[in-house]
Amino acid sequence: MKKILTLSVLFTLLFNCGKPVTKLDNTEENVIQNEKEAIKTNDFAIVIHGGAGTILKKNMTAEREVEYRLKLEEAIKVGHTILKNGGSSLDAVEKTINVLEDSPLFNAGKGAVFTNAETNELDASIMDGKTLNAGASAGTTTVKNPINLARKIMDKSPHVMLAGNGADLYAKEQGLEIVSPDYFYTENRFKSLQRAKKKAIIEQDHDAEKDKKTAGYYDADIKDYKLGTVGCVALDKNGNLAAGTSTGGMTNKRFGRVGDVPIIGAGTYADNATCAVSGTGWGEYFIRATVAHDISVLMEHKNLSLEAAAKEVIHNKLTNMGGTGGIIAVDKNGNMVMDFNTAGMYRAKMDANGELVIEIYSKKE
Ligand code: ASP
Repeated sequence: MKKILTLSVLFTLLFNCGKPVTKLDNTEENVIQNEKEAIKTNDFAIVIHGGAGTILKKNMTAEREVEYRLKLEEAIKVGHTILKNGGSSLDAVEKTINVLEDSPLFNAGKGAVFTNAETNELDASIMDGKTLNAGASAGTTTVKNPINLARKIMDKSPHVMLAGNGADLYAKEQGLEIVSPDYFYTENRFKSLQRAKKKAIIEQDHDAEKDKKTAGYYDADIKDYKLGTVGCVALDKNGNLAAGTSTGGMTNKRFGRVGDVPIIGAGTYADNATCAVSGTGWGEYFIRATVAHDISVLMEHKNLSLEAAAKEVIHNKLTNMGGTGGIIAVDKNGNMVMDFNTAGMYRAKMDANGELVIEIYSKKE
């Protein structure tokens, strides 16, 4: 027994040798932040995003910016009203995301990006922080509002995730609104696909040796080929947290590619004990870094504040891996965070007093 113990200690020492020592939980800054966030700041709160990426003021027209701001405002107010009237965070998340899904401005529902085969395959998920129940759908082609399907899967089925034809069929069976796949056509997104395909061919010739993993599939601007995913997190008056995310995924995706959005713990996570998180960004990295769950875990096991946990995951872990994107989150005390490592992220938050903040670009811009 003693020998086994000694060996295991030795193994742990060897195994951890060279790894950076993380002192996440005891910096003075974190302790102060923790104390600040330990107080109930909001009875209820809601935060939304409409995607992160290279969103620069210089590339945006004033009219376009107004369009985005108005739609974000319309959406968040739907959820805020539900919460204010004592409704559940799950309803607030679902109904808020519906507004964003129905707008062609965002890469979700109506504005979903195109696959390489010129189709639209949509992913979504929702999670209930009270029960840790969750629902997710991947690769649907006929469900008008995939977040509603995710909710149905959570509430009515014994499963967590349904994919492809089966998911479409289940939506129909459950009486959700079904549309022809053509419903998802938008000229803008179709043009983006054509551009992406052209670029991918050029870069296949030039860069095949440079990056064998992506050459021929995606181009160097891959990180912006999915801009506009939508997400919402909310805390209701009963102290229940919920998170939801909906997306068309990545332009020019192939072979049934599924991103982080329907993966619970990657793009979406909620736990009443900690926080609710919805992410947006390069999905493959969000899956590998289990971004949403990691933030919750850092709060639970390292006692970090939401702000510090989000910062750690986005600006250290994800960034060091080479991933890009951001998150929105709210904790059980109503503290709200919107953090990202890209040039911008469409985002808005609203507190219990009705104070609304809408932002697009990075604070540095
Ligand atoms: N995370 C999404 C995906 O990879 C895209 C995005 O959020 O921009 O499918």
